[in-house]
Amino acid sequence: MLPISKVDDSERSRIPVVEKEAYAQSIQRFGVDNFGKIGGRCLMNQLGIGRAEEAWLHEVKHFLRAWSEGVGTVSSDWKAQTAHRRIYAFAEFSFASTFLPGKSLLEGSLFQLNGLHADPEFTFRPWLCAVQLPISKWVDRSLCAEFQLLGEVCELLHRSGIDLTCPELRYSVHGDLNLYLSEPSCVSCVGAMKQFQTLLPGANLFVECGSVIEPLTARRQQLKTRGSPRNEGIPSSASLSSD
Ligand SMILES: [Zn+2]
Repeated sequence: MLPISKVDDSERSRIPVVEKEAYAQSIQRFGVDNFGKIGGRCLMNQLGIGRAEEAWLHEVKHFLRAWSEGVGTVSSDWKAQTAHRRIYAFAEFSFASTFLPGKSLLEGSLFQLNGLHADPEFTFRPWLCAVQLPISKWVDRSLCAEFQLLGEVCELLHRSGIDLTCPELRYSVHGDLNLYLSEPSCVSCVGAMKQFQTLLPGANLFVECGSVIEPLTARRQQLKTRGSPRNEGIPSSASLSSD
């Protein structure tokens, strides 16, 4: 039995775990929306977010291929027919609590497409915080597939008896969450992953993504072709810092 009766108001913590305004300002200071596959991986390494294992990725890709071929044949649902070309997140997870030794707390898999959720009940979750990014300011990052999915996992844990406003209960959770993304995460979503780790420090997060956007590589190529005769011979690091 989870110690729900022990939770009193003085022990509850603020949700989301970040102070929204200061957090949004510090994210803005990155000056980019997305670090791409390679830069994103460097950032995740710094945050202690591991890579999903090859064997798991192989299974996920097999599942996603079968799924996209399946929905392509259903003619009545035009949204589903375009789904295989859309941005998505897939997760598999297994959690337990030290308060329930030997028992599973929550296990399952979730698939989430980018954009509005069909069920309004699932569109807003208070657990994590999405922020506006400096370049594509008009994009609502709370609609990102991985943001919605991580929020959903938090909600499922909350409903399983782990009151997420209670640090004692949150800290009792341990387990793994494997996440596959069709594209590299935006900075808001990498931040949401960090918030997820802060909420549930005993849970391991493993992430891998496809490789559609690689802005760092693209930017370097652009700088090469943009060089004028005047700054020829200046090392590329100097071109970057004067930009
Ligand atoms: Zn995002």
